[in-house]
Formats: sequence, structure tokens, C-alpha cells
Amino acid sequence: MKTIHEPARNVPVYAQPDVLVVGAGAAGMMAACAAARAGADTLLIDAYGTCGGTLTLATLGGFCGTHAIIDDERLGRTVGGLYLDLEGRLIRREGLLEPRRHGKIIGVPYDATALRGVADEMLRAHGVKVLLHTSAVDVQVEDGRVRAVLIENKGGRSAIVPRVVVDCSGDGDVAARAGAGFALGDEGETQYGSAMFRLTNVDQERAGTLTRPMIRELLERAVADGYTLPRTAIGFHINPVPGLVHLNVTKLGLPDGAPFNLADPEQLSAAEVEGRRQVGLYEEVFRKYVPGFERARVVDMGVKVGVRETRMIEGDAVLTEDDVRGCRKPEDRIACTGWPLEIHGRGQATHWEFLPDGEYYGVPWGSLVVKGFDNLLVAGRNLSATHEAQSSARAGGLCFAMGEAAGLGAALSLGHGDRVRGVPVERLQDELQRQGALITPDLA
Ligand SMILES: Cc1cc2nc3c(=O)[nH]c(=O)nc-3n(C[C@H](O)[C@H](O)[C@H](O)COP(=O)(O)OP(=O)(O)OC[C@H]3O[C@@H](n4cnc5c(N)ncnc54)[C@H](O)[C@@H]3O)c2cc1C
Repeated sequence: MKTIHEPARNVPVYAQPDVLVVGAGAAGMMAACAAARAGADTLLIDAYGTCGGTLTLATLGGFCGTHAIIDDERLGRTVGGLYLDLEGRLIRREGLLEPRRHGKIIGVPYDATALRGVADEMLRAHGVKVLLHTSAVDVQVEDGRVRAVLIENKGGRSAIVPRVVVDCSGDGDVAARAGAGFALGDEGETQYGSAMFRLTNVDQERAGTLTRPMIRELLERAVADGYTLPRTAIGFHINPVPGLVHLNVTKLGLPDGAPFNLADPEQLSAAEVEGRRQVGLYEEVFRKYVPGFERARVVDMGVKVGVRETRMIEGDAVLTEDDVRGCRKPEDRIACTGWPLEIHGRGQATHWEFLPDGEYYGVPWGSLVVKGFDNLLVAGRNLSATHEAQSSARAGGLCFAMGEAAGLGAALSLGHGDRVRGVPVERLQDELQRQGALITPDLA
């Protein structure tokens, strides 16, 4: 590729926080709240103007991975801590419904618009400094430590010089630019992304009676009639706002059927366009084929496509599919979930592998500790995991819990020479549990 020379220059230091959290998604929000609550001077930055990441920018219908099924009839929580604070605030804004079951799948429906305000409120309450519309664009590393994160925003380019960094960018931008190892999907083929949207004018009562197999049958009829639908095995969430339904139905593939690589700028751009095309297609099909949706209209789309998987950063430990299938509970676990393997690969259906009722697995602390760096953690969908394991671990519920653990771990490391490996894991676990986080949930 042709290059030009960029001259070296001095840039102003914007801030020197104890803890810098990059990315304000499910993981980053909680990491920042946990670090600030533990007394660390904490700065959270995000490239967009709203916190919540996938939850508010792509938009989802429900939080998943927060509960497990017990004896096929009861639900038990697998995520507590700061997530309960978030739930409480959403309930006060009428932005949350009771958990709903769709077969073996449980989601807690929330209103993505209400969550935008709740995220601001929660970050303020915990004393986090937030700088929006600010991207981390480069990293300076010295002797295995992140010395500075370079940022760009409307003010130009400047530097943040933190003691510890938590990379919650979803794509592992900071860790990758620092030179950490990473994997991209299954030998380069990631899971498919989706453009998310909400329909208004839906008869929620009739829509709520449709099971996933019933919806699939209706969409297969549309396919038989000539509609080219990339996905027919889908789910939707009834929204807390009357008449609204959130749909997770599109599937972003290249003309040859392969998934877009959503860490590639040109493919990400093309995926946005393809996503909007598919939203129009599904709106037409739902109006025509699905009872309760006859008068439905698209009322909003995510401002960006939903990205399930890009880089997974190499950590001291790697969460594997065997850990998930085997419901392993490592001694150093700092978060847990009962969410299944959920692989959005080729074909019109999603591959699900459910854990036995009443079961869960734990995420080891080592899968948040970036290999080769003293003061760098990751949390959220860019954790250290295999392609298959990440298909489970990326669920929003577990991202909240991982974020809380990473933020607290970052704050604790300040008392150990800013070295994240200096944090005694038992102390981190005790402190997490004291704050209500779950690492051994009661699913009896
Ligand atoms: C289509 C789809 C459907 C899903 N459905 C569900 C569901 O129903 N329920 C559920 O619980 N989970 C679901 N998930 C999974 C879940 O939503 C996500 O995996 C989870 O929210 C990811 O959270 P995160 O904090 O790790 O990352 P993200 O949500 O990706 O947040 C990363 C944040 O970092 C910011 N950022 C990125 N790069 C930079 C940078 N260089 N500088 C500054 N900021 C940056 C981004 O703007 C973003 O705000 C779904 C995911 C997708 C994509």
C-alpha cells in the first residue's frame, strides 16, 4: 500500500486517571462504575455519543445470560452486583420487564432508549468521568506497560496517561494496538453480525403467543414464496413500550455467503448498507406473514450494526468451549453464566448447545489479564476465549459481570504497583461477592 510520512509531534496530555476504561458498552460501563466505586479516579471514553455499546447503539430486546433455568420451571440469577443496580434504575423508568422464557432461552426485556439515560445516571452516581465522541486511536507501550493511550475527538489529538487500562472496546482496539496477541473468529471467519430494529404498531398480545418454531414456519413460507431471507430461525422481544417489538432477524453476509469481517473498515461500511436493506425486507415479510404485525412499521434501527465477534485478545488463560460444555468452575473465576453456546455461523439457523438445567460455568480471572502486559485488562466480548466459547461469553449479562470484575481488579491493582497480576484473586473474589456479584450462584 502507498504510504505518506506522518511527522512526529508533541500532543497535550488530556488526563492522568488511575483507571482508563475504553469503551462504554455493557462491560465498560460496569468496569468504570466498579473502579470508581472502589475509590479509583476513573475516566471512561467512548467513540459514540451514548453509553451502552451494543445494548443502545445496535440495540437489543433483552439481556441474556443473567438467569439460568432450574428444574425446567424456576429461574435463578447468575449475575448480580452492579447489574442489579442497573435493573433497579430501568424499573424506575418503566424500561424493564420480568424475564421471559422462549423454550430454553431467557431474556430480560429492556427498552434501549431508557437505557441511554440510565447509563448516564448510573455512571454519574458512581463518580465516573465520561468523555464521549472520543476514540482511542493509538497506544504507547514501555517495558510491558501501557504508558499512554492516544485519543482523537473534536479537540484533535491528545494523550491519556493512566496507571491501569481496561480495554472494553469490544474489538480489543487498545490491546491489539499495544501489540497483544489476538484471534479473529475461527481462523478468520467470525460469527455473522446483524442489523437490529424495532417495529411499532404491533399487537403485542398476539405476537407474544408466537413460539420460535411458529415464527420459523411462517418465515419459511415467505422463503417458499420467493423471499430471499438470510435467517428464518429467529426470535423477537416484546418491548416494555406498548406496541413495540424488537427484532434480531437479519444476518450480514457477503455476496459469496461468508460473514463480513466487521473489524475491516470497508466491510463494516458495506455491512451497514446491507443491514438496512435487510431491515426493509423483513419489515415487508413480517407485515405479510406474521399475525399481529399486519400494521407494523420500522420505528428505529441501531445506529450501528450489531457485531458479535471480532478480535479476542490473548490472555493468561483462554476460555474454551470445553469449559462451557463441561460447566467448569475454575478456582479463580470472577464471573459466571448459564448461557449456552450460540453460534451464528453459515446457514439459516443458529447453532445452540444448552447447559443442563441448574448449571453454569465460570470465567477465569486470567482470561481478562492480557498476556505480556502489566497494567492492561480486557472485559466483554473481546475477552480471551476461543471462537466457540465466545459465542456464549459475549452475552450481555456476562459482559456486565466481567466488566465489574475487571474494574474492581484494576482499582485493586493500584495497591500492588499498578500490576494487575499483583492482585490476590481471593481478595478480588471476596470483594466482588461483598458487593453482591455472583461467582457461586444458588441454583439449587
Ligand atoms: C446482533 C446481536 C444480538 C445480540 N443479542 C443479544 C441479546 O439478545 N441479549 C444479550 O444479552 N446479548 C446479546 N448480544 C451480545 C451482547 O449484546 C454483546 O456481546 C455485549 O453487549 C458486548 O458488550 P461489550 O461491552 O463487550 O462491547 P460493545 O457493546 O461492543 O461495546 C464496546 C464499546 O466500545 C466503544 N469503542 C469501540 N472501539 C473504541 C475505540 N477505539 N475508542 C473508544 N471507544 C470505542 C464502542 O463505541 C462501544 O460503545 C447480541 C450481540 C449482537 C451483535
